[in-house]
Amino acid sequence: MSNFFWPEPSLEFAGGVIDPGSDSDSRYFICHRGKILVDLNEDRRWQPVAESILAEFLVIEQHFMGHLGTASCYAVEVEDALDREFSDVRGRLEEFDTVMFNLVGRALQINDWHRSHQYCGNCGKKTTDHPQDRARVCDSCGLRFYPRLSPSIIVLVHREDEVLLGRNRLFPPELFSTLAGFVEPGESIEETVRREVKEEVGVDVGELSYRGSQPWPFPNSLMLGFHAAYESGDIVIQEDELDEAKWFHLSHLPRIPGKHAISRWLIDEYLSERGYPV
Ligand SMILES: [Zn+2]
Repeated sequence: MSNFFWPEPSLEFAGGVIDPGSDSDSRYFICHRGKILVDLNEDRRWQPVAESILAEFLVIEQHFMGHLGTASCYAVEVEDALDREFSDVRGRLEEFDTVMFNLVGRALQINDWHRSHQYCGNCGKKTTDHPQDRARVCDSCGLRFYPRLSPSIIVLVHREDEVLLGRNRLFPPELFSTLAGFVEPGESIEETVRREVKEEVGVDVGELSYRGSQPWPFPNSLMLGFHAAYESGDIVIQEDELDEAKWFHLSHLPRIPGKHAISRWLIDEYLSERGYPV
């Protein structure tokens, strides 16, 4: 299933919860209110920072995330940005390789989840960290809280040498992409794909093929990517979601998302399978 359109990890990362203790090799993902400290290497790629930079900040919380090679990694929330540059990740995707994008997303989500689960939603008492799991526990009523993840599907609908792409109302002009939507409670992923395609563009799809996934931390999606074969129906768009949806021939595609996004990987993979240049 995997081919070169789907990024391979460039560095070894092994996730974990139990803190082995930091040392001089440790690396820190420093966050402040949903933004990440910008520190680029000589290739203009984003990197986590060493202890000497962490020491500049007043730390609110620090959570072990796992090992990158032999370096233990921490998500750190700091009190004040000082005069350092903190940035929203979404506008700077070209500065991240896949491993770093996923690790920064992990750090931001862990910090956000800890910040927003300080108190029990059931009884209102203070929660504490679970000793072994990535969970917070209410000692008063026993409820556990796990990090919030929102599974969603993203799907390329295809019909021989054509693909069905939509223009979301929030997209920049001319940009078309694959269709996407959140999984509802009680729904299988396959049901979500069929429902979303039907709702957004009015067509029915037949055979589904799962291609791969991408964590998308804005704020906590996990995107599950499919190819879906067109079966029947004419395009009728859901106007509160899409401005436009059309069939595009593979030799005349519109502007599509950049190489950092799963929507692009789904499109590039289909182009390649049908013998078109990517
Ligand atoms: Zn409680």
